[in-house]
Amino acid sequence: MTNTDKLVYLDHAATTPTHPEVADAIFPFLREQFGNPSSLYSVGREAKGVLEESREKIAGHIGARPEEIYFTSGGTESNNFALHGVAWANRKRGNHIITSMIEHHALLEPCHFLEKQGFEVTYLPVDSQGMVDPGDLRGALTDRTILVSIMHANNEMGTIQPISELAAAARERSICIHTDAVQTMGNVPTDVNELDIDMLSVSAHKLYGPKGVGFLYVRKGTRFGAFHRGGAQERNKRAGTENLAGIVGMAKALELGAKGMAERSHRIALTRDRLVEGLLGKLEGRVRLTGHPSERLPNNVSLCVPGVEGEAMLLLLDMHGICASSGSACTSGSLEPSHVLLAMGIPPEIAHGSLRFTLGWSTSEEDVDRVVEVLPPIVERLRAMSPLHV
Ligand SMILES: *Cc1c(COP(=O)(O)O)cnc(C)c1O
Repeated sequence: MTNTDKLVYLDHAATTPTHPEVADAIFPFLREQFGNPSSLYSVGREAKGVLEESREKIAGHIGARPEEIYFTSGGTESNNFALHGVAWANRKRGNHIITSMIEHHALLEPCHFLEKQGFEVTYLPVDSQGMVDPGDLRGALTDRTILVSIMHANNEMGTIQPISELAAAARERSICIHTDAVQTMGNVPTDVNELDIDMLSVSAHKLYGPKGVGFLYVRKGTRFGAFHRGGAQERNKRAGTENLAGIVGMAKALELGAKGMAERSHRIALTRDRLVEGLLGKLEGRVRLTGHPSERLPNNVSLCVPGVEGEAMLLLLDMHGICASSGSACTSGSLEPSHVLLAMGIPPEIAHGSLRFTLGWSTSEEDVDRVVEVLPPIVERLRAMSPLHV
């Protein structure tokens, strides 16, 4: 990157910058307001007041009640909490869990762990556009099923699942349904009653909040237990002194995310389309778009360039100050192609050439035009060098 290049950050699905208004909201809780919400004296009571106020605000943004919000350390913990919380509390009723093949590792890994503990997990397939079929879910439900967990939108290729239809299938049998909404919060509406789900995971750093904080929504009446144990915080369900600064920041981030969401997402989708059209114009026939054409996150462009390594493109893009991603951040670094792309039936040799751009609130046309200018010569150069090139 030469110092005349401006950084073009197009990896908002990995993390977002902290919004300045979020940073301002957090600051007093790092500097002055240090009270522990569990302390009984005034400094603690003030902290408790702020904690509960934040809980109310956050609940309001997803159509929940404050007592249905459990603060956590982020998306990974929320997913683990949902799985373990429901699995162990319902162990006597059943041991079967249903999820999909395209979940984030923060959902799949605890599922693999539960399998080792005697639970049975069904991993539903997806079609070539990354969709789970509600009919497949209906067919997989048994009398031993205690939990269904299907992500709202996929972090790699952006497909948005028909969650309310999937939820209806689970509801018919009174089975608890969880969704990982980490990628949708702030991008598309996530009302727990419209989605008709019982549990929902959110992470603040994917929506302009701080890292290391999130929450799990749990519908009142859901049978679930504590995931980790200690003090009596979060109604005895999630022990540990609350990350008050982070929670205040998350409440602010959700407020900003809700404000003008429809117009903002529309504008981002137009910029995304400009990027797609620009790339297709120059690389027609050499790239393959992945994910669903319309049921997708407004900010996600994902594609595969056959014959080229995704990592190689990332490194060359980085030299031009462009931040993107290949597969998920967790799988990059290993040579395994993305499990999400493989589940959609994309052959491994093509999945190796995956590239993802995720736009943010401040991504400009200029930013995406830069990618359209820089990427095609990179692809040409790598194709010329590649032994995979045919
Ligand atoms: C990032 C992400 C997570 C993990 O969230 P953290 O807060 O980083 O632990 C879980 N699910 C999805 C879909 C994600 O994109």
